[in-house]
Amino acid sequence: MEAARMQLNMVTLPPTRSDSPEAPSAEFLEELRAHSARLESATPEEIIAWAVERYFPDLTMATAFGPEGCVIIHMLSKIEPQTHVFNLDTGYQFQETLELRERIAQRYGIEVEMKQPATTVEQYERLHGGPLYNVNPDQCCFDRKVTVLRQAAVGFRAWMSGIRRDQSSDRARAGIVSWDKKFGLVKVSPLANWTKKEVWGLIVKENIPYNPLHDQGFPSIGCWPCTRKVLDGEDERAGRWAGKAKTECGLHTPAESDGSGI
Ligand code: SF4
Repeated sequence: MEAARMQLNMVTLPPTRSDSPEAPSAEFLEELRAHSARLESATPEEIIAWAVERYFPDLTMATAFGPEGCVIIHMLSKIEPQTHVFNLDTGYQFQETLELRERIAQRYGIEVEMKQPATTVEQYERLHGGPLYNVNPDQCCFDRKVTVLRQAAVGFRAWMSGIRRDQSSDRARAGIVSWDKKFGLVKVSPLANWTKKEVWGLIVKENIPYNPLHDQGFPSIGCWPCTRKVLDGEDERAGRWAGKAKTECGLHTPAESDGSGI
């Protein structure tokens, strides 16, 4: 592992605040592309170690406590357990999801910070004459997730996410490392090349805590009003915003990246 870290960092420039400028130069983007291409053949642990080496303590990770997030937290606990991890606590999460936070804290000593929107669910629904998740889920996600992540990103230079390329066509273009224009951060996706089978293989092998709803027909879990069980043969994200054109909450939309797929 140490040898791999050294090899991966051989061409890594010393981390500086200018690594995450608000308007990145073409040179900066090219450097990210080069790192991303080189990390294509790295393991998730090597990618996380690279991100920690380069950006910690200005590195954060967003998790919805999905299986991928739990796997990354498990890896982080061995690489740099002081890495900041947060959850977008919309107020609409399942109780099982909230309880998983406590199980992770007990297992790893990692306290995931819960980032809440400016309004409670009650205030928000009163403001809009009822819940927005049915009539305008894009606005609801924007207010209760995207805006909160923007605020949570302040002070960091890079963030990690647990997206996998094989989850959806939207995510198929995700780079291992990319510039996330929407949040003004470098985005690192250590599991971009992993499959669902690899994620669950590690969860079983290492007895990693996971959301019990996954055993009850929910392969992908978001807020309870926008998540249903999937049927046999359906895509793993078919239960998210089912019956609507919406497939993403807006955090990982490719059109919002620099467009190059890095
Ligand atoms: Fe609102 Fe549903 Fe988005 Fe959660 S997933 S923020 S409830 S629209």
